[in-house]
Amino acid sequence: MKKIIVVVGILLVFTGCKLFKESFGKEDDILKEVFNNVSDKASISRHTIYGRFLNLEGKLTKKVDNLSLVLASLDETLEYELILDKKEQETTFKTNKLINEGINLEDIKEGTYIFLLKEKKDNQELYYTLEKDNDYKDLEYYTITKNKLNKKITINFSKYEDNTYLKLDCKKESLPDTIYDVVIDAGHGGIDVGANKNGHYESHINLSYSKTLKKSLENLGLKVKLTREDDTKIPNYGDLSRVSIPYEVHAKLLLSIHQNSAYYNVGSGGVEVYVANNSNTKFAENISKNIVELTSTDYSTNKAHKIAPGVYLRTLSQDDILDMQHEALKEGYEPYTLANTSSTYYYIIRETGGIVSGAYVDDSNKEEPWNKYYNSNYGTESYLLELGYLNSSTNLKILLEEQDKYVEAITKSVKEYLEI
Ligand SMILES: [Zn+2]
Repeated sequence: MKKIIVVVGILLVFTGCKLFKESFGKEDDILKEVFNNVSDKASISRHTIYGRFLNLEGKLTKKVDNLSLVLASLDETLEYELILDKKEQETTFKTNKLINEGINLEDIKEGTYIFLLKEKKDNQELYYTLEKDNDYKDLEYYTITKNKLNKKITINFSKYEDNTYLKLDCKKESLPDTIYDVVIDAGHGGIDVGANKNGHYESHINLSYSKTLKKSLENLGLKVKLTREDDTKIPNYGDLSRVSIPYEVHAKLLLSIHQNSAYYNVGSGGVEVYVANNSNTKFAENISKNIVELTSTDYSTNKAHKIAPGVYLRTLSQDDILDMQHEALKEGYEPYTLANTSSTYYYIIRETGGIVSGAYVDDSNKEEPWNKYYNSNYGTESYLLELGYLNSSTNLKILLEEQDKYVEAITKSVKEYLEI
């Protein structure tokens, strides 16, 4: 998503901008001025946060050719390009195509902002306010901890007289105890050992890497939560589960740490980073690249599901979906209804991003509660890291001997991606 312009200064979007200047600090006066100048309203069908990115989708009940999104405060006006779908009687719009792009909330300065749509027509500018047309919750976001500082951003539909508008408030606030920047998920645990080779269990390696990575990210000043701290099996869903924790601590980023294994000869093995469908893959590419550069491990030679160097995207195949339906019928429970071939295969990636990553009620394990956040409009940007292959003796040796180098490579990638 392209930011078109940033106008620094008093709210400049309206012709009556002098009035804004004179009424500085009087929110009611500003809103009165806004509503005197807007032509009509547009409706918002989806407002979501995934990781650090806010995105909006909605419609205007007329055909327009040139429409942008304006985020205006007293101090600055931000303008963003929109993706439009024009029909005879309506125009639908969205802020972005990829789920981990959009309005980066880390870039928002302190202040109160109003969202408006701007239509350019015959040298004229027309403005539209945004009203809610969905059942999703208001959004609350804490920025990534930088220099021990955080900001709190709230995004909600507010009222001025009979008018509704979408508002964003951004202010300095210290991070509550329950909120974290990053979650690290040490894969498997307890009786679920994952892959194993010559007495080396994946679950143990994952935990050791996760603990070291936690310390390393904390050295960047980040607040980091582990899904498990010891060698126990934790539930996938329900309270204190791998899926619930990222939502509950409002994590911006989740890294799920795993080691690979295959029944065939994988040579010297190698790294594979799995991403959600419809993602910008630059962070995943950077993790793989830094691991290849800083450790003795190489890119994996596995070509299945590979979409970029060291980056993999696995979505459900038609066979996977049929298998799930068959299993459900056999076991006597309702089959999946929302899963389709664009659903991300790995549940830890798919289920932690809410509606953005296509989470659905996963009833594959009848003994566990479902993902109560599957319909959340707030989710975590999640990646699954297969650091190497245990069934390759070369790769296993590297994994056991070069943990610090791996952690350094992942830390470097996180630092760059989160711009710390
Ligand atoms: Zn695993």
